[in-house]
Formats: sequence, structure tokens, C-alpha cells
Amino acid sequence: MKSSLLFLTAFAYAAVSAAEPPYTFIEGKVPEDVQPDGNSIVFEGPKEILVIDTGRHPEHTDKIIAVAKARNKPITAIINTHWHLDHATGNARIRSAYPGAKLHASTAVEEALQGFLIRNVEKAKARLEDPSVPEPRKADTRLYLNAINDPANLVPDQPVKGAMSINVGDRKLQLHLAKYAATEGDVWVHDPASKTVFVGDLVVVPLPFFDTGCAEGWRQALAEIDKVDFQTLVPGHGLPMDHAAFSNYRSAFDAFTACAGSSQPTASCVAIWMQKGAAFVAMHPDPKYSEAALAYYVDQVLRIPAKRAEYCGNPNEAAR
Ligand SMILES: [Zn+2]
Repeated sequence: MKSSLLFLTAFAYAAVSAAEPPYTFIEGKVPEDVQPDGNSIVFEGPKEILVIDTGRHPEHTDKIIAVAKARNKPITAIINTHWHLDHATGNARIRSAYPGAKLHASTAVEEALQGFLIRNVEKAKARLEDPSVPEPRKADTRLYLNAINDPANLVPDQPVKGAMSINVGDRKLQLHLAKYAATEGDVWVHDPASKTVFVGDLVVVPLPFFDTGCAEGWRQALAEIDKVDFQTLVPGHGLPMDHAAFSNYRSAFDAFTACAGSSQPTASCVAIWMQKGAAFVAMHPDPKYSEAALAYYVDQVLRIPAKRAEYCGNPNEAAR
């Protein structure tokens, strides 16, 4: 009796893991010499294509368009998990091929276009004039300037202001809004039918990027995600993971940010992620990269009151 049960369990597991996911995963590359692309997801309905995140470089976005062309169906909807340009620059390219594509995103990008995104415009223009800057970096700079000069392709015509759903044929995708997490508004997507969540940069390998992040809101977002019955989580960068790996990520995140919020030395906080998040650190070729990035985020973001105020939604404190 016992052995037949075991056999059944093993068989069911094999059947689940062999099943094809009902979406196409396009991995965002993180090259050494240029800016990264975020991951993209393509869902196919009976007559339409829906895309989650559109990348930065034309080479990435063209892989999405190639899927739509191969299926001979128009891209009718784009979801941006957040406004970072490695996830949203490709919106314009997709819409020039498919002008009817609706853009679902948080309205946080409107504020970013007045603040974070325009802070480096002068430096960017200077870079284009500088003969010592290599061409690939200049190409990235042009992509950045084109994107921020084209707000209609960043600001949503379908704003996500709370929980909502979008249908792709019979499939009902559930959208959730996390406030003051990796950005001021992060959208994450749950597909109950395939038990998958697509969380953008709420989960990033090898470590969370806090450039526009708020530790408290982010912890809350990870707790919400953890409550969902999912088997596969697709992060903003890096390969899909199972629920157990995500729970490990979450506990490393909670411990690291608790340390950053305390008076413990920076090195102790770095050591917490390097140890508890070791499985994620190992996914990057250079552990020194993770150590340096973690120390930077503790000292230059998480412990800087003005940045905390800006990214945690306290405008009074931000103005000081
Ligand atoms: Zn990203």
C-alpha cells in the first residue's frame, strides 16, 4: 500500500514538472558592459498576445515581437511591473508595431518622470558628447533619453490602482499593487490556473536592488506574495524559482533589512545576505559584486533618511 502511494506521488510530481508553462519566458540579459534588460513574459490568447515587461534594448523587445509575429496575433496589452527602464523602454517599440496595445501599470511613473528619471539628463547629454565613452554606453544613453522624452509610452492608459484582473482568453490574470516596495508602486501578477506569480523586481537575483526601494513596504509585499498558492515565481531578473526558494529569499530579505534598520555594522548586514541568501549570491559569477552592492545599499540608501522619506512616501521628510 505504502509503496503504491509513493509511486503515485512520484508520478504526479513528474507530470507537473514536465508540463509546459502556458507562457513564453524571455530572459533579460545582464551583460557586463551595458545596462540590463528585465525578464519578459508572453501570454497567448485565442486572438491576442499579452506581455509582462518589455525590456530595454531593441534586441530584447524584438524577441517579444517575434513571438507575436510567429503566432500571427497582435499584442493587445502590456503590463509593466514597475517603471524602471530595463522593464519599460520596450513599450514604445512594441506600440510602434502594435499601436492598439494598452498599457497597464502603476501611476508611480508620473512622479518618477518628475524626479528620479530626470535627475541624470544633463550627465547623459554630456556622455553623448564625450569621445572617451564607448559606443555601447552611448547607445544605452540614447535609449534612456528617448524613453523619458516619450512619456505617453511610460504613463499607463490603464492605470493599476489596486487589485484588478485581466483576461487572456479564458485565463484570468490577477494584478496586485504593492505600494512603496521596490518602487513607489509595483504591480505583481498571479496566474491561478498555472500557479505562477510574476513579481518584477520584488524578487531579483543575486540580491534586491534598493535604488528606489522602501524596506518596510517591500517586506509587506513579499509577505502578501508568500500567502498565495503558487508553485513557480518568475523574478524581474534571474531564472524562475519554486515557492520554497522564494520563502528562503523572503527570510533573507527580512533579516537583511532588519539589520539595515538597526545600528549593527554594515559588514554584519552584508554577511546576513551572503549567508542566508547564499543560493542567490551563487547565481552571479562574482560574489564580490554582491558584497559591494549590499554595502552600498545599506550605507547609501537604507540608512539615508532623505532617501527613506522619498521612497517610503513621506513627502514632508523628503523636503527637509
Ligand atoms: Zn530591473
